[in-house]
Amino acid sequence: MTEITREERQREDQAILQQFPILDGSFTYLDNGATTQKPQCVLDAMMHYYTKENANPMRGLYDLSIKATEAYEDARETVRAFINARAHEEIVFTRNATESLNLVAYTYGRAFIKEGDEIVITIMEHHSNMLPWQQLCKEKGAKLTYILPEADGTITEEMFRSYMNPNVKLVAMTQVSNVLGVKNDIKTFARIAHENGAVFVCDGAQSVPHMKVDVQELDCDFLSFSGHKIYGPMGIGVLYGKRDLLDKMPPFLFGGEMIEYVTTEGATWNELPHKFEAGTVNDGGAVGLAAALRFVSSIGFDRIEERELHLTKMMMTEMQKLPYVHILGSTDPEKHHGIVTFTVDGVHPHDIAAIFDSHKVDIRAGHHCAQPLMKFCHTPSTVRASMGLYNTEEDVQHFLDALKKLREEMGY
Ligand code: PLP
Repeated sequence: MTEITREERQREDQAILQQFPILDGSFTYLDNGATTQKPQCVLDAMMHYYTKENANPMRGLYDLSIKATEAYEDARETVRAFINARAHEEIVFTRNATESLNLVAYTYGRAFIKEGDEIVITIMEHHSNMLPWQQLCKEKGAKLTYILPEADGTITEEMFRSYMNPNVKLVAMTQVSNVLGVKNDIKTFARIAHENGAVFVCDGAQSVPHMKVDVQELDCDFLSFSGHKIYGPMGIGVLYGKRDLLDKMPPFLFGGEMIEYVTTEGATWNELPHKFEAGTVNDGGAVGLAAALRFVSSIGFDRIEERELHLTKMMMTEMQKLPYVHILGSTDPEKHHGIVTFTVDGVHPHDIAAIFDSHKVDIRAGHHCAQPLMKFCHTPSTVRASMGLYNTEEDVQHFLDALKKLREEMGY
């Protein structure tokens, strides 16, 4: 991580901020874990697509449709390179991370998980990486086991190993928790899962926007993420899957474009990745996502990680001085990856978020789609501030000012 001077940081802040038309200084946006704002280049790329290239891709034989197909497949190549997948066949466009995870549970899960098998997930999973496996296990008579981390969210190699046994056929785990911010050692856990004969599904929704994720290095079998959390549009997501696994999985949705040949008796399936992309695809979304990934690459994860850590340190250091504020997870900002979830004695999280809103600071309150984790942490709900690459020291200062006035405004 390259640290920079104060002047360099301010120049960098301005250079980044001016690319986000919505960030006009009238509010402070700290809900990036939920969704991110979009840079002009993403908006321009989508505008270009819809004004110059829009047609139903992969179907027409005319020039515009060919252009639309090229735009879509170029976007796929950008995604492939971004996560370093071996082949474009391994990149399936979906609607979001949720759909990607459901795709694996519905197709791989229903084809290969049997009664008596065991699936291992963690208690820190987002509901999107929990409910598909819960449903699958109920349907198949398989067992679902939850890894319980240490109080700060750590799962050690030893702990992970203790959950492995010959019945475990699939492990699904988030790389970064959307509540604790803790990062799981996917590379090590995937290796151990493979030694045990299990496939490894990695939920990258909160990691891919914040750090370099290389699927060959991690050696996970599947990886999911959402375009809207990485400065791209809503409605486009990605499922990476190893080719040999995708090949042997049945299709997810049935209809146009995913077939090779149809008779009144049945059908054969299109080649990868089209087998998993039924119906008209989200070409404009894919184009927007590709522009977002190019934008992120142009800044680089070295700078993104340094910026987000710098602000997390600033935020947590001040919060830790307030005895009535309690941060979930580790006390070490390096283990938070830009996510700071907390409670305030005597103030309900919804009141906290409403008061922050009156100070024009946008943060998230609730269970963060991780109710079993909330129970594990003995709290029904919390508040979360989450950083994006455009956040600045001023944003953190606005947040801290609102936090310090909070109890006063509640009459303490
Ligand atoms: N996984 C994690 C860790 C998340 O934080 C989220 C969303 O917040 C998801 C999955 C689901 O993402 P989406 O709602 O875009 O499908």
